[in-house]
Amino acid sequence: MEGYHSAQVSVRVRLNTNESPAAPPDAWRDAYAGEISRIEWHRYPDRAATALRQAIGESHHVDESQVFVANGSNEVLQTLLLTFAGAGRTVATFEPTYQLHGHLARISGATVVEGERADDFRLDLAEVDRVIDSAQPVITFLCSPNNPTGMVEPAENVHHLLDRAPGLVVVDEAYGQFADWSALELLDEELPLVVTRTFSKTWSMAAARLGYLVGPSWLVSELEKVVLPYHLDTAKQHAGRLALRFTDEMDERVRQIVGERERIAAALTALPVQVWPSGANFILFRPLTIEGHDVWRQLVDRSILIRDCSGWPRLEGCLRVTVGTHDENDEFLAALQAILSS
Ligand code: PMP
Repeated sequence: MEGYHSAQVSVRVRLNTNESPAAPPDAWRDAYAGEISRIEWHRYPDRAATALRQAIGESHHVDESQVFVANGSNEVLQTLLLTFAGAGRTVATFEPTYQLHGHLARISGATVVEGERADDFRLDLAEVDRVIDSAQPVITFLCSPNNPTGMVEPAENVHHLLDRAPGLVVVDEAYGQFADWSALELLDEELPLVVTRTFSKTWSMAAARLGYLVGPSWLVSELEKVVLPYHLDTAKQHAGRLALRFTDEMDERVRQIVGERERIAAALTALPVQVWPSGANFILFRPLTIEGHDVWRQLVDRSILIRDCSGWPRLEGCLRVTVGTHDENDEFLAALQAILSS
Protein backbone atom coordinates (compact mmCIF):
# COMPACT_ATOMS: atom_id res chain seq x y z
CA MET A 1 0.00 0.00 0.00
CA GLU A 2 1.01 3.64 -0.42
CA GLY A 3 1.71 5.80 2.64
CA TYR A 4 0.12 9.20 3.24
CA HIS A 5 2.36 11.91 1.78
CA SER A 6 2.53 15.68 1.87
CA ALA A 7 5.62 17.18 0.26
CA GLN A 8 7.72 18.96 2.89
CA VAL A 9 10.08 21.32 1.09
CA SER A 10 12.15 23.94 2.87
CA VAL A 11 10.55 27.26 1.83
CA ARG A 12 9.95 30.82 3.06
CA VAL A 13 6.15 30.76 2.75
CA ARG A 14 4.50 27.51 3.89
CA LEU A 15 0.83 27.31 2.90
CA ASN A 16 0.41 23.56 2.36
CA THR A 17 -0.82 21.87 5.55
CA ASN A 18 -3.70 24.07 6.78
CA GLU A 19 -1.95 25.03 10.00
CA SER A 20 -2.70 28.30 11.81
CA PRO A 21 -0.39 31.08 10.58
CA ALA A 22 -0.13 32.42 14.17
CA ALA A 23 1.56 30.91 17.23
CA PRO A 24 -0.51 30.42 20.40
CA PRO A 25 -0.85 33.49 22.70
CA ASP A 26 2.21 34.30 24.89
CA ALA A 27 0.05 33.97 28.01
CA TRP A 28 -0.70 30.36 27.03
CA ARG A 29 3.06 29.64 26.70
CA ASP A 30 3.68 31.10 30.16
CA ALA A 31 0.84 29.12 31.77
CA TYR A 32 2.02 25.95 30.04
CA ALA A 33 5.65 26.45 31.12
CA GLY A 34 4.39 26.80 34.71
CA GLU A 35 2.43 23.55 34.53
CA ILE A 36 5.32 21.69 32.91
CA SER A 37 7.63 22.65 35.76
CA ARG A 38 5.19 21.05 38.24
CA ILE A 39 4.61 17.74 36.43
CA GLU A 40 5.34 14.59 38.44
CA TRP A 41 7.33 12.96 35.68
CA HIS A 42 7.70 9.65 37.53
CA ARG A 43 3.90 9.15 37.46
CA TYR A 44 1.69 7.99 34.60
CA PRO A 45 -0.76 10.60 33.29
CA ASP A 46 -4.40 10.79 34.36
CA ARG A 47 -5.62 7.94 32.18
CA ALA A 48 -9.12 9.40 31.85
CA ALA A 49 -7.75 12.91 31.03
CA THR A 50 -10.52 14.19 33.29
CA ALA A 51 -9.62 17.88 33.54
CA LEU A 52 -9.06 18.17 29.78
CA ARG A 53 -12.29 16.36 28.92
CA GLN A 54 -14.20 18.52 31.39
CA ALA A 55 -12.79 21.67 29.81
CA ILE A 56 -13.65 20.48 26.28
CA GLY A 57 -17.09 19.35 27.48
CA GLU A 58 -17.76 22.79 28.99
CA SER A 59 -16.74 24.50 25.77
CA HIS A 60 -19.40 22.50 23.89
CA HIS A 61 -21.98 22.37 26.72
CA VAL A 62 -21.78 18.57 26.96
CA ASP A 63 -20.74 16.18 29.72
CA GLU A 64 -17.13 14.97 29.88
CA SER A 65 -18.46 11.42 29.35
CA GLN A 66 -19.38 12.53 25.80
CA VAL A 67 -15.80 13.58 24.99
CA PHE A 68 -13.00 11.29 23.76
CA VAL A 69 -9.47 12.74 23.40
CA ALA A 70 -6.47 11.42 21.49
CA ASN A 71 -3.18 12.35 19.81
CA GLY A 72 -4.57 14.46 16.99
CA SER A 73 -7.95 13.90 15.38
CA ASN A 74 -6.20 11.32 13.19
CA GLU A 75 -5.83 9.10 16.25
CA VAL A 76 -9.49 9.74 17.09
CA LEU A 77 -10.40 8.51 13.59
CA GLN A 78 -8.09 5.52 13.93
CA THR A 79 -9.62 4.55 17.28
CA LEU A 80 -13.13 4.80 15.82
CA LEU A 81 -12.10 2.48 13.02
CA LEU A 82 -10.32 -0.01 15.30
CA THR A 83 -13.44 -0.10 17.48
CA PHE A 84 -16.20 -0.35 14.87
CA ALA A 85 -14.62 -1.29 11.52
CA GLY A 86 -12.06 -4.02 10.74
CA ALA A 87 -12.02 -7.10 8.52
CA GLY A 88 -15.33 -8.16 7.00
CA ARG A 89 -16.86 -4.70 7.51
CA THR A 90 -17.41 -1.82 5.14
CA VAL A 91 -16.69 1.88 5.50
CA ALA A 92 -18.12 4.53 3.12
CA THR A 93 -16.48 7.76 1.97
CA PHE A 94 -17.60 10.31 -0.64
CA GLU A 95 -14.71 11.35 -2.84
CA PRO A 96 -12.87 13.59 -3.18
CA THR A 97 -12.44 13.95 0.56
CA TYR A 98 -9.80 13.67 3.32
CA GLN A 99 -7.58 10.80 2.22
CA LEU A 100 -6.94 9.43 5.71
CA HIS A 101 -10.57 8.32 6.17
CA GLY A 102 -10.17 5.60 3.54
CA HIS A 103 -6.49 5.01 4.35
CA LEU A 104 -7.06 4.36 8.07
CA ALA A 105 -10.15 2.27 7.32
CA ARG A 106 -8.09 0.02 5.04
CA ILE A 107 -5.38 -0.31 7.71
CA SER A 108 -8.10 -1.51 10.11
CA GLY A 109 -8.80 -4.28 7.59
CA ALA A 110 -12.14 -2.87 6.44
CA THR A 111 -13.33 -2.65 2.84
CA VAL A 112 -13.72 0.95 1.69
CA VAL A 113 -16.58 1.82 -0.65
CA GLU A 114 -16.00 5.16 -2.35
CA GLY A 115 -19.07 7.11 -3.43
CA GLU A 116 -18.59 9.91 -5.94
CA ARG A 117 -19.51 13.51 -5.29
CA ALA A 118 -21.33 15.49 -8.00
CA ASP A 119 -19.34 17.48 -10.60
CA ASP A 120 -19.39 20.55 -8.35
CA PHE A 121 -18.11 18.37 -5.46
CA ARG A 122 -21.42 18.59 -3.57
CA LEU A 123 -22.86 15.39 -2.13
CA ASP A 124 -25.15 13.67 -4.58
CA LEU A 125 -27.94 12.22 -2.41
CA ALA A 126 -28.92 9.61 -5.02
CA GLU A 127 -25.30 8.38 -4.93
CA VAL A 128 -25.37 8.44 -1.12
CA ASP A 129 -28.46 6.19 -1.15
CA ARG A 130 -26.90 3.85 -3.72
CA VAL A 131 -23.67 3.44 -1.73
CA ILE A 132 -25.33 3.07 1.67
CA ASP A 133 -28.03 0.68 0.49
CA SER A 134 -25.60 -1.57 -1.36
CA ALA A 135 -22.62 -1.45 1.04
CA GLN A 136 -24.37 -1.21 4.44
CA PRO A 137 -21.33 0.56 5.94
CA VAL A 138 -20.55 0.33 9.68
CA ILE A 139 -19.11 3.84 9.40
CA THR A 140 -20.03 6.58 6.93
CA PHE A 141 -17.59 9.50 6.81
CA LEU A 142 -18.42 13.08 6.00
CA CYS A 143 -15.90 15.87 6.20
CA SER A 144 -17.32 19.36 6.74
CA PRO A 145 -15.83 21.69 5.67
CA ASN A 146 -14.52 19.09 3.28
CA ASN A 147 -10.78 18.77 2.77
CA PRO A 148 -9.61 19.50 0.04
CA THR A 149 -12.66 21.19 -1.52
CA GLY A 150 -13.52 23.52 1.39
CA MET A 151 -17.26 22.93 1.09
CA VAL A 152 -19.50 22.97 4.14
CA GLU A 153 -22.05 20.16 4.19
CA PRO A 154 -25.62 21.49 4.65
CA ALA A 155 -27.48 20.21 7.74
CA GLU A 156 -30.09 18.45 5.60
CA ASN A 157 -27.40 16.22 4.10
CA VAL A 158 -26.24 15.12 7.54
CA HIS A 159 -29.90 14.44 8.46
CA HIS A 160 -30.25 12.42 5.27
CA LEU A 161 -27.20 10.30 6.15
CA LEU A 162 -28.48 9.75 9.69
CA ASP A 163 -31.83 8.57 8.32
CA ARG A 164 -30.23 6.28 5.80
CA ALA A 165 -26.97 4.92 7.28
CA PRO A 166 -27.22 1.61 9.14
CA GLY A 167 -24.15 2.37 11.30
CA LEU A 168 -22.19 5.27 12.69
CA VAL A 169 -21.97 8.66 10.93
CA VAL A 170 -18.68 10.48 11.55
CA VAL A 171 -18.58 14.18 10.70
CA ASP A 172 -14.94 15.29 10.58
CA GLU A 173 -14.93 18.97 11.57
CA ALA A 174 -11.19 19.58 11.67
CA TYR A 175 -12.07 22.96 10.10
CA GLY A 176 -15.41 23.37 11.87
CA GLN A 177 -14.64 26.74 13.49
CA PHE A 178 -14.27 28.39 10.07
CA ALA A 179 -17.75 27.31 8.92
CA ASP A 180 -21.17 28.84 9.51
CA TRP A 181 -22.76 25.79 11.17
CA SER A 182 -21.66 22.64 13.00
CA ALA A 183 -23.07 19.13 13.25
CA LEU A 184 -22.39 19.46 17.00
CA GLU A 185 -25.94 20.94 17.04
CA LEU A 186 -27.38 17.57 16.05
CA LEU A 187 -25.65 15.41 18.68
CA ASP A 188 -27.91 13.28 20.84
CA GLU A 189 -27.31 10.29 23.13
CA GLU A 190 -29.75 8.32 20.95
CA LEU A 191 -28.12 9.15 17.61
CA PRO A 192 -25.15 7.21 16.13
CA LEU A 193 -23.38 10.46 15.26
CA VAL A 194 -19.97 11.76 16.33
CA VAL A 195 -18.19 15.02 15.47
CA THR A 196 -14.38 15.09 15.44
CA ARG A 197 -12.35 18.23 16.10
CA THR A 198 -8.69 19.19 16.43
CA PHE A 199 -6.39 21.62 18.25
CA SER A 200 -4.12 21.65 15.18
CA LYS A 201 -5.82 24.48 13.29
CA THR A 202 -7.77 27.15 15.21
CA TRP A 203 -5.93 26.46 18.46
CA SER A 204 -2.53 26.97 16.78
CA MET A 205 -1.27 23.73 18.33
CA ALA A 206 -0.40 21.41 15.44
CA ALA A 207 2.87 20.63 17.26
CA ALA A 208 0.98 19.27 20.29
CA ARG A 209 -0.97 16.56 18.39
CA LEU A 210 -4.31 16.81 20.16
CA GLY A 211 -7.79 16.06 18.85
CA TYR A 212 -11.12 14.88 20.20
CA LEU A 213 -14.64 13.81 19.39
CA VAL A 214 -17.98 14.63 20.89
CA GLY A 215 -20.61 11.90 20.73
CA PRO A 216 -22.86 9.60 22.76
CA SER A 217 -21.34 8.56 26.12
CA TRP A 218 -21.90 4.82 25.40
CA LEU A 219 -19.75 5.18 22.29
CA VAL A 220 -16.99 7.01 24.17
CA SER A 221 -16.91 4.10 26.66
CA GLU A 222 -16.35 1.66 23.78
CA LEU A 223 -13.45 3.75 22.43
CA GLU A 224 -11.82 3.81 25.86
CA LYS A 225 -11.66 -0.01 25.74
CA VAL A 226 -9.72 0.07 22.49
CA VAL A 227 -7.28 2.96 22.82
CA LEU A 228 -3.91 2.27 24.49
CA PRO A 229 -3.76 2.89 28.24
CA TYR A 230 -2.17 6.26 29.12
CA HIS A 231 -2.06 7.22 25.43
CA LEU A 232 -2.34 10.95 26.20
CA ASP A 233 0.69 12.31 28.05
CA THR A 234 0.40 14.71 30.98
CA ALA A 235 2.03 17.66 29.18
CA LYS A 236 -0.49 17.44 26.34
CA GLN A 237 -3.41 17.25 28.74
CA HIS A 238 -2.22 20.53 30.31
CA ALA A 239 -1.62 22.09 26.88
CA GLY A 240 -5.19 21.47 25.75
CA ARG A 241 -6.84 22.39 29.03
CA LEU A 242 -4.95 25.70 29.21
CA ALA A 243 -5.62 26.51 25.55
CA LEU A 244 -9.34 26.52 26.25
CA ARG A 245 -8.83 29.56 28.49
CA PHE A 246 -8.00 31.58 25.38
CA THR A 247 -11.26 31.24 23.49
CA ASP A 248 -11.57 34.99 22.77
CA GLU A 249 -8.08 35.13 21.23
CA MET A 250 -8.83 32.05 19.13
CA ASP A 251 -12.19 33.44 17.97
CA GLU A 252 -10.36 36.60 16.89
CA ARG A 253 -7.88 34.50 14.87
CA VAL A 254 -10.74 32.68 13.19
CA ARG A 255 -12.30 36.05 12.25
CA GLN A 256 -8.98 37.22 10.78
CA ILE A 257 -8.46 34.00 8.83
CA VAL A 258 -12.01 34.08 7.46
CA GLY A 259 -11.44 37.73 6.41
CA GLU A 260 -8.20 36.79 4.65
CA ARG A 261 -9.86 33.77 3.04
CA GLU A 262 -12.51 36.03 1.52
CA ARG A 263 -9.81 38.45 0.33
CA ILE A 264 -7.87 35.63 -1.37
CA ALA A 265 -11.06 34.19 -2.88
CA ALA A 266 -11.99 37.60 -4.33
CA ALA A 267 -8.47 38.08 -5.74
CA LEU A 268 -8.54 34.61 -7.33
CA THR A 269 -11.77 35.39 -9.19
CA ALA A 270 -9.86 38.09 -11.09
CA LEU A 271 -7.31 35.49 -12.31
CA PRO A 272 -7.67 32.76 -14.95
CA VAL A 273 -8.46 30.06 -12.36
CA GLN A 274 -11.54 28.10 -11.30
CA VAL A 275 -12.23 28.60 -7.56
CA TRP A 276 -14.46 26.61 -5.21
CA PRO A 277 -16.28 28.34 -2.35
CA SER A 278 -14.61 27.58 0.99
CA GLY A 279 -15.85 27.46 4.58
CA ALA A 280 -12.40 26.40 5.82
CA ASN A 281 -8.93 27.96 6.24
CA PHE A 282 -7.87 26.93 2.73
CA ILE A 283 -9.07 27.36 -0.85
CA LEU A 284 -9.12 24.88 -3.73
CA PHE A 285 -8.51 26.31 -7.19
CA ARG A 286 -7.58 25.15 -10.69
CA PRO A 287 -5.37 27.26 -12.98
CA LEU A 288 -6.97 27.36 -16.43
CA THR A 289 -4.13 28.57 -18.64
CA ILE A 290 -1.12 26.66 -17.23
CA GLU A 291 -1.09 23.09 -15.94
CA GLY A 292 -1.64 23.02 -12.12
CA HIS A 293 1.52 21.06 -11.37
CA ASP A 294 3.64 23.57 -13.32
CA VAL A 295 2.10 26.44 -11.35
CA TRP A 296 2.89 24.56 -8.11
CA ARG A 297 6.52 24.06 -9.18
CA GLN A 298 6.94 27.71 -10.18
CA LEU A 299 5.57 28.74 -6.78
CA VAL A 300 8.12 26.44 -5.09
CA ASP A 301 10.84 28.12 -7.20
CA ARG A 302 9.70 31.38 -5.53
CA SER A 303 9.90 29.67 -2.11
CA ILE A 304 6.11 29.39 -1.71
CA LEU A 305 4.72 25.93 -0.92
CA ILE A 306 1.04 25.08 -1.42
CA ARG A 307 -0.59 21.65 -1.76
CA ASP A 308 -0.40 19.99 -5.14
CA CYS A 309 -3.63 18.03 -5.58
CA SER A 310 -3.28 17.94 -9.36
CA GLY A 311 -2.63 14.20 -9.51
CA TRP A 312 -5.48 13.20 -7.18
CA PRO A 313 -8.55 11.49 -8.65
CA ARG A 314 -11.25 13.99 -9.70
CA LEU A 315 -8.91 16.93 -8.91
CA GLU A 316 -6.93 17.09 -12.16
CA GLY A 317 -4.91 20.32 -12.24
CA CYS A 318 -6.12 21.48 -8.79
CA LEU A 319 -4.09 23.20 -6.09
CA ARG A 320 -4.98 23.99 -2.49
CA VAL A 321 -3.67 27.04 -0.66
CA THR A 322 -3.84 27.48 3.12
CA VAL A 323 -4.77 30.95 4.37
CA GLY A 324 -1.60 32.44 5.87
CA THR A 325 -0.72 35.81 7.37
CA HIS A 326 -1.72 38.95 5.44
CA ASP A 327 1.86 39.26 4.08
CA GLU A 328 2.13 35.59 3.13
CA ASN A 329 -1.19 35.79 1.30
CA ASP A 330 -0.01 38.90 -0.55
CA GLU A 331 3.19 37.12 -1.58
CA PHE A 332 1.24 34.09 -2.78
CA LEU A 333 -1.25 36.21 -4.78
CA ALA A 334 1.48 38.34 -6.36
CA ALA A 335 3.48 35.23 -7.33
CA LEU A 336 0.44 33.46 -8.75
CA GLN A 337 -0.53 36.52 -10.77
CA ALA A 338 3.01 36.80 -12.15
CA ILE A 339 3.14 33.10 -13.07
CA LEU A 340 -0.28 33.13 -14.77
CA SER A 341 0.49 36.25 -16.79
CA SER A 342 3.94 35.08 -17.92
N1 PMP B 1 -9.29 15.71 9.46
C1 PMP B 1 -9.08 16.51 8.43
C2 PMP B 1 -10.18 16.78 7.47
C3 PMP B 1 -7.82 17.12 8.25
O1 PMP B 1 -7.61 17.89 7.18
C4 PMP B 1 -6.79 16.87 9.18
C5 PMP B 1 -5.43 17.52 9.06
N2 PMP B 1 -4.83 17.38 7.85
C6 PMP B 1 -7.07 15.99 10.22
C7 PMP B 1 -8.32 15.44 10.36
C8 PMP B 1 -6.01 15.58 11.20
O2 PMP B 1 -5.75 16.57 12.09
P1 PMP B 1 -4.89 16.30 13.39
O3 PMP B 1 -3.74 17.22 13.30
O4 PMP B 1 -5.83 16.64 14.52
O5 PMP B 1 -4.51 14.86 13.44
